[in-house]
Amino acid sequence: MCGIVAYVGHREACPIIIKGLKRLEYRGYDSAGIALMNESLNVYKKKGKVSELEAFIAEKDVHGHIGMGHTRWATHGEPNDVNAHPHFSSSKSIAIIHNGIIENYAALKTLLLEKGHTFQSETDSEVFINLIEDIRTNNHCSLEEAVRLALHEVVGAYAIVVLSKDDPDQLVAARKGSPLVVGVGQGEYFLASDATPIIEYTSDVIYLNDHEIAVIKNGELDIRSKEDVKQTPYVQRLEMALESIEKGGYEHFMLKEIFEQPRSILDSMRGRMIAESNHMMMGGIREFENKFVNAERIIIVACGTSWHAGLVAEYLIEDLARIPVEVEYASEFRYRNPIISEKDIVIAISQSGETADTLAAIELAKSKGATIFGICNVVGSSIARATDAGAYTHAGPEIGVASTKAFTAQVTVLTLVAMIIGSKRGTLETTKLHELMVELENIPDKVEKALQLDEQIQEISAMFKDATNFLYLGRGYNFPVALEGALKLKEISYIHAEGYPAAEMKHGPIALIDAQMPVVVIATKDSSYEKIVSNIQEVRARKGRVIAIVTEGDNVIPAMADYVIEVPETSEHLVPLLSVIPLQLLSYHIAVMRGCNVDQPRNLAKSVTVE
Ligand code: GLU
Repeated sequence: MCGIVAYVGHREACPIIIKGLKRLEYRGYDSAGIALMNESLNVYKKKGKVSELEAFIAEKDVHGHIGMGHTRWATHGEPNDVNAHPHFSSSKSIAIIHNGIIENYAALKTLLLEKGHTFQSETDSEVFINLIEDIRTNNHCSLEEAVRLALHEVVGAYAIVVLSKDDPDQLVAARKGSPLVVGVGQGEYFLASDATPIIEYTSDVIYLNDHEIAVIKNGELDIRSKEDVKQTPYVQRLEMALESIEKGGYEHFMLKEIFEQPRSILDSMRGRMIAESNHMMMGGIREFENKFVNAERIIIVACGTSWHAGLVAEYLIEDLARIPVEVEYASEFRYRNPIISEKDIVIAISQSGETADTLAAIELAKSKGATIFGICNVVGSSIARATDAGAYTHAGPEIGVASTKAFTAQVTVLTLVAMIIGSKRGTLETTKLHELMVELENIPDKVEKALQLDEQIQEISAMFKDATNFLYLGRGYNFPVALEGALKLKEISYIHAEGYPAAEMKHGPIALIDAQMPVVVIATKDSSYEKIVSNIQEVRARKGRVIAIVTEGDNVIPAMADYVIEVPETSEHLVPLLSVIPLQLLSYHIAVMRGCNVDQPRNLAKSVTVE
């Protein structure tokens, strides 16, 4: 995970790096550090947030036009000042910032210790920089060459930037498995984990590919492969507005992103559907239409919230397109020996497009001949580039660590996918397709309406903010929503929560229910409505406190639930897009009332680029 930023050019490097690190803080915030080159190579680092580093360097001499910074999500060694990046080599002549994990670091460290290298930290990253130093000393080679040779020795994932005291005008960077973007300005260059630290200065970017090394020297950028073959980079023009990565008056990014959903859902379907003329299209599917139409099975691989979106898609695709669907945790899928054939389609879902386990699952499925369709939010991300085809969710940058608008955008895109395949396969008849299209077009307005529940949800949140456990129940399309609601609450308020299919409650969780247990039941009007009404009765009979999410106008559940939240009526297929909204708001307000750091919950990071 972690965020990295580097700069070389005519401006002062430090303010650019600090600002960039703040933008990347969603990727990790255990510690932060900066290296600046002036008369010497200086490193400053501190446990905690970037603001603590900023305060720490306030009185220091931080001038210089070349430098790099890191905000860490610890994998090797606890978060403290010493384990913070950048790390010097033993001789202190070169320094590194690193995102990822070096899996063979222990063996390398033993060898390097034998050769007299010394280590200050417990990190794998410090091993990496000493390896580079060792190679450089033994081979009397350039920094660039030493980095290149070191890449052949390390196993694992990395995005790195290296600075050397002896090469004061030079930045060397490389990646494998962790993202790295080069910003190309007028006589200046930027390096960062994503484009957000860069867009203020230039919209011309190059997404480095795995196994590429970028050297910026004397104002020139040179990109080579690990085999030292010169590469011709593709300079891409970014269309990202600065406002989209700022809070815009909201107290937290998460709240801003929740309220952005009417627009982000609209953006995710824009150009892909015109209900009036019964027209649907998605470039990625058109290209592989035959594969989709004849697919024997669809396997969805994802992690976390994206996995929940995948579960919604299982219901959608099986019902509308009649293709069997399996939804897999990418981390499990990649380590068993799954049966995959050339007739399978694997849909990989990831907001960041950098999720390490999902990427590995893609590689595995590819090697077995499956067609891979990616659904991600970040344009140009590793998953977007590793897949055969795909669709972007176009939700705009999501900065809050707890995913909200990315989930609804994923569900929207997956709904479109199910509808398109269903209509091509003839399993979704035209009238039904048209009805769904019209209803999908209405969803942004209905989400807007659901957001007006905010005040009511704040009041409910105040009643339950001190609870220690929560149960979330749903059936059918609302079962994945129950999982998602529970995950949101867990990750930002640190309250233990479980999501369950409502009928499964009787097979265990019902034992937990007493007068202290809040039970959120998602009970919108759908084909299993009567059943879930019975489940509410079962909870009530055990004195559980019921917060019910119901369809507007429901006159049965209000008589039996303690609190009722009404969402607009919609088709059963689209209900997750509405029923998840109150759950996002509930978790947000409870977390704020408990004094939790909503945008940067403890131990988490936004894009999980380590396995
Ligand atoms: N493995 C490195 C560490 O623990 C880098 C982690 C990161 O990506 O932030 O320091």
